[in-house]
Amino acid sequence: MRESDCIFCKIAAGEIPSKTIYEDEKFRVILDINPATKGHALVIVKEHYENIYELPEDIAAAAMVLAKRLAKHMTEILKCDGFNIIQNNGKTAGQTVFHFHVHLIPRYEGDGNQEKMCWDHLELSQEELDDICQKLFQ
Ligand code: 5GP
Ligand code: ZN
Repeated sequence: MRESDCIFCKIAAGEIPSKTIYEDEKFRVILDINPATKGHALVIVKEHYENIYELPEDIAAAAMVLAKRLAKHMTEILKCDGFNIIQNNGKTAGQTVFHFHVHLIPRYEGDGNQEKMCWDHLELSQEELDDICQKLFQ
């Protein structure tokens, strides 16, 4: 399953060259063209799913296992000091390529991205927290 004008479908299929650091039958992992830090990579699912809502659960599980393995491997090789695993869904959440992918971002002391990878904190009352909690509890 793929979309004809999706850039990540073409990269995943090897039709557009990429700096591939890992590949198997489900995933291709490439270096990001505009990296946040040295080694910033993207786990790209080979089949086209737009986002996490569309992604089958078994592929979601496999993506996280792969992200965990690569985080260990990349940390050992690149000797980074920390690691972000980020996955955006929807324009509001910062998604720009609408084909499911997971960002693997090695972090280095003083890499200058501290402020960009965190968020402002809301101050919510106990009632507001209770309300959200009750709505979400399953
Ligand atoms: P998003 O914002 O959708 O979570 O992340 C998309 C990422 O894909 C961005 O970090 C962007 O730099 C990267 N990207 C977009 N087009 C290409 C491309 O053609 N090649 C590579 N290697 N990365 C790309
Ligand atoms: Zn695609």
